[in-house]
Amino acid sequence: MDTCHIFAAGYDVRTPAAYAATMAEFDKVIGLKYLMALHVNDSKAPLNSNRDLHARIGTGYIGLVGFWNIVNDVRLHGLPMVLETPIDTVVDGKKVEDKGIWAREIKLLEKLVGMDVESEDFKKMYEDLQEEGIGEREKIGDQVERRKVKNAKTKAPKVKKETQHENKATVKDENEDSDGE
Ligand SMILES: [Zn+2]
Repeated sequence: MDTCHIFAAGYDVRTPAAYAATMAEFDKVIGLKYLMALHVNDSKAPLNSNRDLHARIGTGYIGLVGFWNIVNDVRLHGLPMVLETPIDTVVDGKKVEDKGIWAREIKLLEKLVGMDVESEDFKKMYEDLQEEGIGEREKIGDQVERRKVKNAKTKAPKVKKETQHENKATVKDENEDSDGE
């Protein structure tokens, strides 16, 4: 299970209740016993966007509470968790990979185990990471919104054509008049 993929597909994990519902559905449809590993990634794209864009833990639309839900789920303890978060960074104008990011994310995920989400420490971490990712979230969020609008526009004429076929020539003129949007 990839946390970014399920989120992009519309399965929410951001609150304890949403996480519980998603896992209950997974158990019903697939079966928790078949869950062998997790790909642990935040998402640069919003819930149900159908965009697979990994973000660093806590910086994306899932946010730190979602990962808190996962690492505190005892049913998942012992399963391998794989980070596939981006580690590209710029040093002196050059693009380099900073594997230290993964080391820090592993420490962060370990720290979340047993942590109080209401504590000041957690809230500060949550806010700082959301701040770090705000640029990417807004950029991708805008793209997703624009695509939704575009898709809505391109889908509309297809519906009209189907109506034309069904109703044959009688309403043809009427439909052609309204096609020019
Ligand atoms: Zn992916």
